[in-house]
Amino acid sequence: MSFQTLGLGPKLLQAVSELGYSTPTPIQLAAIPQVLEKRDLIGIAQTGTGKTAAFALPLLELMTQHPLQGARPRLLILAPTRELALQIDESVRTLSKHLRLRCVAIFGGVGERPQIDGLRRGADIIVATPGRLIDLMGSGHVNLRHISYLVLDEADRMLDMGFLPQIRRIVGSVPKQRQTLLFSATLSKEIEKVTAEMLVNPKIIEIGGRANPADTVAQFLYPVSKARKVELLIHMLRDQKLDSVLVFSRTKHGADKIARKLDAARIPTAALHSNRSQSQRIRALDAFKDGQVRVLVATDIAARGIDVQGISHVINFDFPMNPEDYVHRIGRTGRANAIGDAISFVTIEDGPYVHDLEKMIGKKIERRNVEGFNYGEEARSATSHASPAHTSRSQRPAAARPGAGRARAGAGRAGAGRSGAPRRRERTW
Ligand code: AMP
Repeated sequence: MSFQTLGLGPKLLQAVSELGYSTPTPIQLAAIPQVLEKRDLIGIAQTGTGKTAAFALPLLELMTQHPLQGARPRLLILAPTRELALQIDESVRTLSKHLRLRCVAIFGGVGERPQIDGLRRGADIIVATPGRLIDLMGSGHVNLRHISYLVLDEADRMLDMGFLPQIRRIVGSVPKQRQTLLFSATLSKEIEKVTAEMLVNPKIIEIGGRANPADTVAQFLYPVSKARKVELLIHMLRDQKLDSVLVFSRTKHGADKIARKLDAARIPTAALHSNRSQSQRIRALDAFKDGQVRVLVATDIAARGIDVQGISHVINFDFPMNPEDYVHRIGRTGRANAIGDAISFVTIEDGPYVHDLEKMIGKKIERRNVEGFNYGEEARSATSHASPAHTSRSQRPAAARPGAGRARAGAGRAGAGRSGAPRRRERTW
């Protein structure tokens, strides 16, 4: 199947081809025709599946088929975080570069003035986080009366973050006659309630099952004691094959502490969390994207929407308490069919969370330990069943070496493929 058969106009197809997308992803194949038929849609899709283009392409097509005199906001996209809003804004601008449509991003943490100026100049599309949008609605700078298309992206996360009252207020200001699309990693009871309230006779598209980690990501657990986690991280990062690494910390304080320790060990690191100013966050992300630093330490909220090509490894320094967070975290690598590795440090206390995760994904994740690393007495019993498989590149089987038949996004970066076939081991908890 190609993009040409999906009903998109030549200018959008040109943008798609300039981006290097040759075949539509499954969610794009499923969603684009439905949206072009003006159906409301619920998209249950893993992160990194190409869902931004899945909604943006057909909506841009509908907007060009029904042009309006003057630029008035007709498409509103709501997203949980500033990073995701920026990411969507960038994608929409790239996809619409040959169309006469203007997009404005509206999010907190930066001055309102440039955003108000952007709205004054005329915007056809608004990508916004709920809080700042409500502020600008309150001060009369945003008018949603002409919105015909509404997208709620990462709706599950918006609910988790307590945005439901704001979303209700915003949706209440948008005409009832509209097309609404909602995307979520899971179809929970809460999401079902919201869809019943805000969507009309929606078509449900579910790609890759509910919240199953992307198949392209190889996952490993590394049992370790709490006290030895930083040392283990530093030990692993000495391996240059880990060339673009996103490290997750449970807390902002923890993220700063890890970044300081890595810096002290001469591993250039940036940190991303919500206590940092917007400009600090953008700087951190840019340094990571440009390869000036190979490690980015982030918290869950800040990492939402991070779309960096070629992340080679995600390391869960702290194991996530919620299986959905695990799925989102590991979705940061292996995006759009690229290959990536997801490594999770697990302490004895994490046992129940690991159990919940394995139950949800329906499989056991391989336990490993790092040869030559001093785990200390405390952890020895916990790691005794893990396989000593943090092998060097030369020890890896040929088929698992980078470049052995698998492509990775992010041209120019050295690959670091999976090591060997997963071996089943005894549970250590
Ligand atoms: P998303 O799930 O929208 O965040 O997209 C994840 C990544 O996949 C982004 O880097 C997109 O640029 C990329 N992508 C989206 N659609 C395609 C496609 N059809 N072919 C290749 N890459 C794609």
